[in-house]
Amino acid sequence: MDEKMARYFQPPDLKAAKKRGKEEISVLQFDQIPQEMRGIGEGKRYMIKTYGCQMNVHDSETMAGMLELMGYTMTESEEDAAVILINTCAIRENAEDKVFGEIGRLKTLKTEKPELILGVCGCMSQEESVVNRILQKHQQVDLIFGTHNIHRLPHLLREALFSKEMVVEVWSKEGDIVENLPKVREDGLKAWVNIMYGCDKFCTYCIVPYTRGKERSRRPVDVLAEIRELARKGYQEVTLLGQNVNAYGKDFTDHDYTFADLMDDVRQIGIPRVRFTTSHPRDFDDHLIEVLAKRGNLVEHIHLPAQSGNSAILKIMARKYTREHYLELVRKIKKAIPDVVLTTDIIVGFPGETEEQFEETLSLMKEVEYDSAFTFIYSPREGTPAAKMKDDVSMEVKKERLHRLNQLQDEISRKKNEALRGRTVEVLVEGESKKNPEILSGRTRTNKLVNFRGPKHLIGQFVHVRIDEPLTWTLKGEWVDKVDSRQVGS
Ligand code: SF4
Repeated sequence: MDEKMARYFQPPDLKAAKKRGKEEISVLQFDQIPQEMRGIGEGKRYMIKTYGCQMNVHDSETMAGMLELMGYTMTESEEDAAVILINTCAIRENAEDKVFGEIGRLKTLKTEKPELILGVCGCMSQEESVVNRILQKHQQVDLIFGTHNIHRLPHLLREALFSKEMVVEVWSKEGDIVENLPKVREDGLKAWVNIMYGCDKFCTYCIVPYTRGKERSRRPVDVLAEIRELARKGYQEVTLLGQNVNAYGKDFTDHDYTFADLMDDVRQIGIPRVRFTTSHPRDFDDHLIEVLAKRGNLVEHIHLPAQSGNSAILKIMARKYTREHYLELVRKIKKAIPDVVLTTDIIVGFPGETEEQFEETLSLMKEVEYDSAFTFIYSPREGTPAAKMKDDVSMEVKKERLHRLNQLQDEISRKKNEALRGRTVEVLVEGESKKNPEILSGRTRTNKLVNFRGPKHLIGQFVHVRIDEPLTWTLKGEWVDKVDSRQVGS
């Protein structure tokens, strides 16, 4: 392939991305697909490889929606694809390594098939160092675009198709809100709905506020209309999505409407289950607890990232709450919703973490009794304040702490699941089990995975399952009956 020159529309700049101004958020409407791009994908296939969190999964659904409006159809085969987009994650270094491995591997395919359009998007493309590395070493890439540029995909694809240069468009802006974007949702059962974008918390280890812009909430009317539409289409579950959903509405200047108000309104829409992710303990207020305690379609599962059980470490992480504040919040939630299932995220081996400080994380875990936890060894991200901190905790110690933490969580998870032995739970049947097509699998309101034998026509339905074999991470049981639709969630 000829050496391509890069055509910069706008390269990323982490310093610019950190700015938080006072300008109003613009709410844009997605344009039509440009005339010359309509039908351009007829008879051609596309593939999107998605890394990272649900925000990325949902962005991929949006990109798929635009590609399908241009006539492309989805494929699982790289060889068949005319467009391959890699939607990347920047949260951990090993996620980045995987992406570069993937880009390197695809060079052979691009050499064999020069007409293939290879694109890189998502959080990694918001990092200057990543864009520069691709420009210098991965000329097989045709297109790089950022998280603020997703709605521009039809225009960028046109540039990439008709230009011999690498197309780069990564805005380091605070972000707009784009409504009316088309979406191809993964299944007809469960849907993700963005309620807000960006994050202003600037936890010192996290790159997200730089890659996703400032906190900006979609208007309630748009969110509620999207959920009503999903209910009309027969979806059984929605998950409201944002980096910090508890900050929803804080950016509205013209009216007072919070996340609790939104949940209260969503509660009245006829969709059987409503979840949300991710919560920030600092913004989790009493009004929200009060609304969640009304239950109905609001499930009794809350993911409440703690990150550490030690107040000094929380302070260095800039989490803006203390161990005591977190435990008080947990106490209030448990009082209002006694059967609540709490899950969390924990980072071990943060720079300077002492054995005593780590033990406070263990004791927090014991005290809260999470049903499960995502646990990670701290990994520095270039451009974040924590990456400049002196890290005197050896990898050996970090690994040993992670092992102890996981052992403790496994014990608690087993105990929690054991308490469900003999109990009958409501399960939304999602499909066949990945390991055995004879077995069906689904989830409880508390998001626990349940496997059981039953006829295939139950897929997509709510059923009762009696738990007879609780395991550490999953539950096995026996199908009892179908749930009367009027009783779902009651
Ligand atoms: S709340 Fe903290 S960890 Fe979560 S996205 Fe924002 S900065 Fe990152």
